[in-house]
Amino acid sequence: MTLPTPQPGVLDIAPYLGGDSRIDGVDRIIKLASNENPLGCSPAAKAALAAAAADLNRYPDGGSADLRAALGRRHGLDPAHIACGSGSDELIGLLCNAYAGPGDEVLYSAHGFLMYAIYAKGAGATPVKAPETDLVADVDNLLAAVTGRTRILFLANPNNPTGTYLPADAVRRLRDGLREDVLLVIDAAYAEYVTANDYSDGADLVRSTENTVMTRTFSKAYGLPALRLGWAYGPAAVIDVLNRLRGPFNVNAAAQAAGVAALEDTRFIDLSRDHNTYWRDWLTRRLRDLGLGVPPSAGNFVLARFDGPDRAEAADAFLRARGLIVRRMAGYGLPESLRVTVGTGEETERLADALAEFMRPE
Ligand SMILES: *Cc1c(COP(=O)(O)O)cnc(C)c1O
Repeated sequence: MTLPTPQPGVLDIAPYLGGDSRIDGVDRIIKLASNENPLGCSPAAKAALAAAAADLNRYPDGGSADLRAALGRRHGLDPAHIACGSGSDELIGLLCNAYAGPGDEVLYSAHGFLMYAIYAKGAGATPVKAPETDLVADVDNLLAAVTGRTRILFLANPNNPTGTYLPADAVRRLRDGLREDVLLVIDAAYAEYVTANDYSDGADLVRSTENTVMTRTFSKAYGLPALRLGWAYGPAAVIDVLNRLRGPFNVNAAAQAAGVAALEDTRFIDLSRDHNTYWRDWLTRRLRDLGLGVPPSAGNFVLARFDGPDRAEAADAFLRARGLIVRRMAGYGLPESLRVTVGTGEETERLADALAEFMRPE
């Protein structure tokens, strides 16, 4: 008997593990494991979600027209060049399926977001990593890793889990050094949090080239990961491909309605960014004072580097025993590190205090 067999690559995928939300035997947990917004989401988004409950018997707008119009207004973009997805993850997956297949390579930096490799394998393509320099994507190494088989280069900017980013001129140099037929995907999931003035989310590069796409999400600063909502801004030809490949109703009506309302509530995003900047920088200083290595982060999380994998594991266990959940990083090739999301002020202080206790000499 020959049983059904998946396509090559599929069984090479190690399933993505999200951050834990509970610990057996611990009542009050503080989850700092999934880069969620500790301030919640816009109240206007919640109200829009509740109102959407009145029309559950109707199919959503398959083209997410109102949402794309709202995105266009908010970001100064042509809505015709936007495609929405069920989380930006879906769009990343569709891009892999559309532009890479068996024999092709999908390139990303060594500690880049895990979903790139998962979707590349799902498309039958080969994920390829280029070394980073001091946990920052390295333009020269990325360009040196390009082969005749490279089809897509994913750059998370800022990157998860390192938190580091490439300034706009470096990203342009990367694009300029790539062959024309290589699609550059700039994953700007944390763009709303970035305050550096040499940073660009990549929209300008999308506008001025024919082979660059930017992906964005409502899961991070907008605080709506439960709804699964993301979007891509790209050249007409790439958006056309996404529209052919995506499910006809891939973004549900509740997500569309909440997304429109969230975009209009600019105050919530400003508040989230200001809160994050203050507590991320506070946390970075505290952890460095404890002797931990912490790369400068432009996102809503920091990477805490311990002396080795054993120390990181012990720290994780120590935190868990106190109800604090952070993220182990072995899957990212950083077994000596833990990634810590910036929480509320109280949560962030509790985390720092617990790590201080862990690091205290015997
Ligand atoms: C969280 C995250 C995403 C996407 O999340 P969705 O919830 O699927 O929109 C994409 N890229 C990076 C780097 C992320 O950290």
